[in-house]
Amino acid sequence: MKRPIITVVGSINMDLVTESETFPKPGETLLGRHFSTFPGGKGANQAVAAARLGAEVRMIGCVGDDAFGKELTDTIANEQIDTDAILVQAEKTGIASICLAEGDNQIIVVPGANHALLPEHIKAHEDLIRTSDLVLVQLEIPAQTVDAAVETAHTYGVPVIVNPAPIQALSSTIRSFATYLTPNEHEAAVLKKEHNDEELHKKCIVTQGKEGVSYPAANGQQSEIPGFSVDAIDTTGAGDTFNGALAVALGHGSPLDEACVFASAAAALAVTKKGAQTGMPHLNDVTRFLK
Ligand code: ATP
Repeated sequence: MKRPIITVVGSINMDLVTESETFPKPGETLLGRHFSTFPGGKGANQAVAAARLGAEVRMIGCVGDDAFGKELTDTIANEQIDTDAILVQAEKTGIASICLAEGDNQIIVVPGANHALLPEHIKAHEDLIRTSDLVLVQLEIPAQTVDAAVETAHTYGVPVIVNPAPIQALSSTIRSFATYLTPNEHEAAVLKKEHNDEELHKKCIVTQGKEGVSYPAANGQQSEIPGFSVDAIDTTGAGDTFNGALAVALGHGSPLDEACVFASAAAALAVTKKGAQTGMPHLNDVTRFLK
């Protein structure tokens, strides 16, 4: 079967994770137990998920001219993702500083170079969008860049999934031209409050953690697909795996209900392993799981 071509427009981050007994108080220095780095950013995560599931993926994003930028671009390239449209800018590569202590976490995200991804960059690479089966976008890059990607996809008649995370009020471009939105339950509740728009809610595929997913069925009603029962070890990246997988299935031309089952299966497999990108399944894992 032909591999679907997916262009992902989104963020690329390095997650810097420290583990300590307690959180430091202001002005205090603590000795931590452990430090690790993980490639992340919703854009990169969703691109990796789609590539592992068999799509030909192109990434449009931005990193800094620094060691993290180089390492992240190499990681993405190692997944056979086209990195030609990853721009290198003077700003530092985006990071998430994650402190784990007391069974809880504290997170600071510095978008850095992700915020240097501008509409001009979408324009310069609009051929990637034009020649795609589907475009996948999240909201960790500037709003005007998201709009440019969605509008370009619409102009060329390419379907576009917008994963509205982190949640914010949606532009009229997204509301009019996104083919599907993929909020989780919390994001869906915010969208309901922000936008009194029946048509918008009919585009929403709402992920509901282990409960599964609700999607707009052909009869205009929301339909539910229960989650797969698995031993969840780490749910980090479940949503990103779901989005990458949904893009692959829809890019193949699968009907929405089948695409949601495929995406739920991929996401369920992802939560059985530790880490976001490290836990993402390959196509044969999902095929075997669904047999
Ligand atoms: P995250 O931010 O943790 O990546 P999210 O909040 O964006 O995730 P969720 O709705 O929690 O998204 O999960 C996405 C999908 O992953 C769900 O619709 C479901 O298919 C699958 N999933 C998540 N958690 C589980 C679980 N414990 N068991 C089975 N499937 C799960």
